[in-house]
Amino acid sequence: MSFHLDYLLALPGVRVETCTQVEGKIFLGLSILSEGIVCHHCKHYTEKLHQNRPILVRDLSVFGRPVYLKIPRRQFYCPSCQRYPTERIDFLDVKRRHTQRYEQNIYERVKQSSMEQIGREEGLSYDEIKGIFEQVIKTKKKTNWKITTRISIDEISMRKGQGNFVTVVSDICEGNLIEMIDSHRSEEISEIFMKQPIEVRKQVEEVSVDMWGGFPKVIKKVFPNALVVIDRFHVMKVVNKDLNKLRRAAGITDRQSKYLLLSNRVNLNTEQIDKLELTLAKSECLRIAYEMKENFREIYETNLTVKKGQRKIKEWLNHAQVFFRESASTIENHFEGICNYFLHRTTSGVMSGINNRIKLIMRQGYGFSNFNNFRNRVLACFSD
Ligand SMILES: [Zn+2]
Repeated sequence: MSFHLDYLLALPGVRVETCTQVEGKIFLGLSILSEGIVCHHCKHYTEKLHQNRPILVRDLSVFGRPVYLKIPRRQFYCPSCQRYPTERIDFLDVKRRHTQRYEQNIYERVKQSSMEQIGREEGLSYDEIKGIFEQVIKTKKKTNWKITTRISIDEISMRKGQGNFVTVVSDICEGNLIEMIDSHRSEEISEIFMKQPIEVRKQVEEVSVDMWGGFPKVIKKVFPNALVVIDRFHVMKVVNKDLNKLRRAAGITDRQSKYLLLSNRVNLNTEQIDKLELTLAKSECLRIAYEMKENFREIYETNLTVKKGQRKIKEWLNHAQVFFRESASTIENHFEGICNYFLHRTTSGVMSGINNRIKLIMRQGYGFSNFNNFRNRVLACFSD
């Protein structure tokens, strides 16, 4: 037909023979330039065509219209091995009905958006989009691990309030997700980490964790040069939990007071601080405990050395036994890890953004048949 169309189509080994439009869709009829194929069973060349059944394949849209390619699907007879090899086409994966570049394009767009959205844009069903996404993922590398010095290990619940924890591993320096593990048992997590080469593991200097898992032991084994840092947000959570108990004991039950007491004072406006004062006026114990909570947070905010941080937290603990019995003993148990924070002020603050994004994908991912597909999907969204 016209060489312009071949030039624009830019697919190897084919020529455009026909071009038609039906209901806003463009159909290009292709022919294949080569006479024969190399048999993929025995590597002998054959030109003995056995049959030809054209297939219709979706390609990238042009001029705002969907494009379909009608491609001859040729089956040959191979005299040398007496089999019937089907021709393989460079730009089309076996048994697929979309060109590779079309599937790549869908994949990239799903990473930025959602399957539903891209399905609407392309006029494809959710299952078709999902099929394409999973097809492309198979061709991608399976890990986001890179050399990094600081990582964070955190757990998120797959279903709110129902357990089903997955462990999320992030690169704090890059603010990127590196791994997601379908378990929060330390042996299983350790096993996954050990798959990384020792050169990668040796580079890790700090690992930020919460206080719940048996992580410190795992970390010593897996990352020989790493310090454990207990994430400050988790520590504040424990302190706030005790404060909240005191609030209930003082008979203060409204939601607003709870919010005001547990928030950082610096984040409150003057009106909120006035309201907070009214609440604190109801209980002297609560006021003292509240001030201690804020003191604790201020220790974190101050630029201290590890030694000075240790001293400050020890001082705090000396006064904390009355109101903060549980949190004080938790802090004592993890004292070293908590104070390691002051070394580089490492927090896993980037985690909240990462966790939110994972949860968003989780909500879109109801069609994922198993955890591994879900993991691949999530890792793909965080890979470059
Ligand atoms: Zn053969």
